[in-house]
Amino acid sequence: MSEVDHLLSKKVADRYLKREVLGEGTYGVVYKAIDTKTGQTVAIKKIRLGKQKEGVNFTALREIKLLKELKDSNIIELIDAFPHKGNLHLVFEFMETDLEAVIRDRNIVLSPADIKSYLQMTLKGLAFCHKKWVLHRDMKPNNLLIGPRGQLKLADFGLARIFGSPDRRFTHQVFARWYRAPELLFGAKAYGPAVDVWAAACIFAELLLRRPFLQGNSDIDQLGKIFAAFGTPKLSQWPDMQYLPDYVEYQYVPGQPLRQLFPMASDDALDLLSKMFMYDPKARISALQALEHRYFSSGPPPTEPALLPRPPPKRDSLNSKVSDFNQREGPIVLSPPRKSRRVMPHREGIDGHTYQVDKVDDHVDEIKPAAGERSEHVPMSLDFSVFGARPPSRPTINRAKQVLVESSNM
Ligand code: ADP
Repeated sequence: MSEVDHLLSKKVADRYLKREVLGEGTYGVVYKAIDTKTGQTVAIKKIRLGKQKEGVNFTALREIKLLKELKDSNIIELIDAFPHKGNLHLVFEFMETDLEAVIRDRNIVLSPADIKSYLQMTLKGLAFCHKKWVLHRDMKPNNLLIGPRGQLKLADFGLARIFGSPDRRFTHQVFARWYRAPELLFGAKAYGPAVDVWAAACIFAELLLRRPFLQGNSDIDQLGKIFAAFGTPKLSQWPDMQYLPDYVEYQYVPGQPLRQLFPMASDDALDLLSKMFMYDPKARISALQALEHRYFSSGPPPTEPALLPRPPPKRDSLNSKVSDFNQREGPIVLSPPRKSRRVMPHREGIDGHTYQVDKVDDHVDEIKPAAGERSEHVPMSLDFSVFGARPPSRPTINRAKQVLVESSNM
């Protein structure tokens, strides 16, 4: 990186005041930060560029520029992207929780209308991106983030394509397999938006069951779990399957009726689910068609996002407010001239605006009704037996660690 580039990237990095680590994801550490230009709380994903020591490659930058143009109310906004110290930093709007936390919270009752609302927002985000020819490729409940007014937004869109598929060495990635479409498990190199629809179907199933639906512990086992549920696909059902690179013939097993797998779901829900779970990707319903399915027009109507049950925001504990955002000392600057620098509450933004630290986090207090506060949503089809079951033991992510981060890490 030239001296000028270095100074430029430092200037951009200086715009963000880093707070605590939110977690470690597929591509690197995610930090909470404050944008001094706008006062907005943001999440910064620091992507290790690994071997590309020379800097960010042009293809990645071009792709990221495209992602910045993807603006939709159900897609997380990529606010900024800049290289800094050999890492790429992606700045996203900050979100309070995610769908995995909703599904796993045993204090939350999800009514059929709530499930419909969460699925509708997921499909709207997907349909928008597919319209722009962008695939997600890593759809799973913890990539569906939830904002302060209950809006669900797809996160990490397109990153799998830019930075490569999730690395299986990371333990938290193993459960991404549970959402993988059969064509991917058979090694398809050419695939399309249907892979995201399969994953959305798994998420729909998980909302209904309150546990991950198909929990394979290897790719072979994943296919086994899929076939045990829906029956081994016949060539008549999926003619192109035999040409896939890793295709092997499986012993035939019959499937189970969907009604048996999802005893509490409505007929419309099951019909849509069966179309999203079609084996042949060519026959699988698209995200847009799914949104037009009668499941969404028949009663009950989807719950208003602001009224959806969700867990208390896990990303802003009292602890983090007190320790990370000490009014006297101020937070640590992302890219300090010295090893570590603290700023006073009043700071000049790079655009010349005076930035008031004690104001920026106001929205955090706008927490919407807690799960227990809703009495109007009476669950109409719920399998209460699942509440007795322990949540599945997923590999854990080191999320929302309430620690101060040494700026030298950036
Ligand atoms: P993964 O690769 O496993 O999907 P991510 O890299 O997306 O994980 O995220 C790592 C951690 O950071 C997770 O705890 C995630 O919830 C959190 N996180 C990611 N994006 C945001 C965001 N925009 N707002 C708040 N937290 C976020």
